[in-house]
Amino acid sequence: MKFACKFGFSKLVLGFMGAAVLLSGCGAEVELTSEPVKPVTNTVVDDHSGWWCTAHGIPEDQCSMCSAKAAKEFKANGDWCEEHNRAESQCFKCDASRADKFANLYEAKYGKQPPAFTP
Ligand SMILES: [Zn+2]
Ligand SMILES: [Zn+2]
Repeated sequence: MKFACKFGFSKLVLGFMGAAVLLSGCGAEVELTSEPVKPVTNTVVDDHSGWWCTAHGIPEDQCSMCSAKAAKEFKANGDWCEEHNRAESQCFKCDASRADKFANLYEAKYGKQPPAFTP
């Protein structure tokens, strides 16, 4: 015996029934507080906060000033600026052009220049 199974999909129809305002003039006051609804645009809210160290202009996990782990590795490799207490390769105070390398990383990822920071 063969059963033909039909699935009835009950759709949830979320229909907003516009309140039919009938101004019958019998004293019923209808207050219309219709605020303009803004379309939800896909605004990016600092999704890079976990990746980019805005304070130092370096990806967070590589930032020798923020990541103790990174700092340890840089020190182990002899890449360290004692004067400024950060990785020599990240010391923009000694050589400002070093920031470009990291700015390029940011730009490659987001297609724009990283936020300005003070070295
Ligand atoms: Zn940092
Ligand atoms: Zn330095």
